[in-house]
Amino acid sequence: MERKGICRVSWQGIEGHDPVVERFRGWLRSGKLPSTFLFVGPRGSGKRSFARQLARCLHCEKYEDEKLDACGECAACRQVDAGSHPDIVEVAPPDGKAVIPIEDLIGDRDHRMREGFCYELSLKPMYGRWRIGILDDADTLCSQAARSNQFAAANSLLKMLEEPPPQALVILIAESDQQLIPTIRSRSQVVRFQPLDNEVVTRILLEKQLVEDSQRAGLLGECSQGSIARALEMNRDDFIEFRKSLFKSLADGQSQLADKIELVSTYVESGESKEASMRRRRTRDAIRLTLDFYQQLMRRQVGVELQGDALLREVVERRAQQGAPAAEELASRLDICLAAEVDILRNMNVANIIPCWLEALHGC
Ligand SMILES: [Zn+2]
Repeated sequence: MERKGICRVSWQGIEGHDPVVERFRGWLRSGKLPSTFLFVGPRGSGKRSFARQLARCLHCEKYEDEKLDACGECAACRQVDAGSHPDIVEVAPPDGKAVIPIEDLIGDRDHRMREGFCYELSLKPMYGRWRIGILDDADTLCSQAARSNQFAAANSLLKMLEEPPPQALVILIAESDQQLIPTIRSRSQVVRFQPLDNEVVTRILLEKQLVEDSQRAGLLGECSQGSIARALEMNRDDFIEFRKSLFKSLADGQSQLADKIELVSTYVESGESKEASMRRRRTRDAIRLTLDFYQQLMRRQVGVELQGDALLREVVERRAQQGAPAAEELASRLDICLAAEVDILRNMNVANIIPCWLEALHGC
């Protein structure tokens, strides 16, 4: 008999998205594979890896498409693995850039629509049945068009999606479908990717040797909110140290507001760069950790089993022993943290957010 939790199904080394695999098998079996997909899900949940593996399976010479499998040994599989298969076109913002350069989409001024993603996809496949385009960070297309005042790229893409070339398969990848131009969304089959389970994140970190220490991998998994990318971002000694100090401070019912502001501000200002995005990310770390703490304290107060690592359980227990706030008060503290997180997303100045947020917490 299969026992839940023991039998692990992993498709092409990708865990946690079996329902998506089955949907694709269904489309392929029925011969009704849509031509444009929009993969939506949190960062680090495996959307791009999934798109690449899908392309690999569709190109593999050994298996029929509907098997959705790849041998890893045929010429096509090898080319895909080497990133050199001519029938796969991938674009994404370059390292350190937030948006995809227009020329990558529609060619530079001298080669408009004779180079770039849209042109490449209009060509006939060289080897396989499919010409597959993977466009990462598609959510940036809309703001890009607005910012650069050049709608040409978005328009060309729209035109292509309206009348897709016969053998093209387009996969757009986005964190959210809210910012996308509605016409792009309406022309795509939306496929949602759920955040990974925290345990799956831990396992992937260890299996792919991204983190060596199993205790650390466990901790990062718990803080990851189901995102490998987020877990890796937090794989820093200063984050681990800050988490310890912040939890200690939260566990102390007598700790002073000024000390908390000092603790958080020091962490936020000590990132490797002084860029606003870095400071926002670090402020968000502090808010998320505080949320973790109050969520567990809430569980403790209403008699539900605690989650999290030994440190989190210990500090929650310590706070509870001192006579923790009642459930309603904890609920308003959680609200205050969530509101502070929204302020971060709205790009408010972190120098204002930190004292306002901590004062509100202290005052309730
Ligand atoms: Zn193969």
